[in-house]
Amino acid sequence: MSRKIAKGRLALSSDLARACHLVHERGMVAATDGNASIRLPNGNILVTGSGVRKGNLTRNDLVEVTPEGRKIKGKRKPSTELGMHLYIYRERPDVRAVLHAHPVYATGFAVARIALDKPILPELIVTLGVVPLAQYATPSTEDVSESLAPFVKTFDAVLLANHGVVTYGRDLDDAFNKLDKVEQAARISFVARMLGGERTLTNEDIRKLAQVSPASYQKHIPEILWDATKT
Ligand SMILES: [Zn+2]
Repeated sequence: MSRKIAKGRLALSSDLARACHLVHERGMVAATDGNASIRLPNGNILVTGSGVRKGNLTRNDLVEVTPEGRKIKGKRKPSTELGMHLYIYRERPDVRAVLHAHPVYATGFAVARIALDKPILPELIVTLGVVPLAQYATPSTEDVSESLAPFVKTFDAVLLANHGVVTYGRDLDDAFNKLDKVEQAARISFVARMLGGERTLTNEDIRKLAQVSPASYQKHIPEILWDATKT
């Protein structure tokens, strides 16, 4: 999906439609669930229309809105979660794509209200750090944005209590990879719990990981996790 040359609106619309198909094919949404958006080069947001099945969404099902949410183009009504998308773009100028889905395992953790916040998988630690759990908020209301407020600046993936997952990144590939990683981590954590429980990495394990991480993964371990494990 990502290329070095800056893409125009048409190519970005196709990418957004393909990302929706992928999320659907991977079983991360059912029927018309979920929503996705990108930030266009003109600063506006292109978002999925409301009530569209993601498996066969086309470019005609997308809606362009201003950063304030005023509709510019598109036949449909924008996603009911548009407010959440706009909030993330406002708070994170670096973000250019947002995905919201209901993958079964990660949403299971969100329903059980269990954050994915234990240091169990080194490769998750060096990419996402931890995946926090936002308080329950009524879907489609501004309460969803409020529930993200404590996390949006620090984390790129958040579980929404009794609802699902939202991830965001520099482009659609990045946001999708994060969604994929969250679901895989939830699946692994679930299996580990079935096998007697997760064994977490020690502070020493994380210290060593932090040492190799910049060279091996081009990543610094998020300080929030580092700090959490020091106590
Ligand atoms: Zn949802």
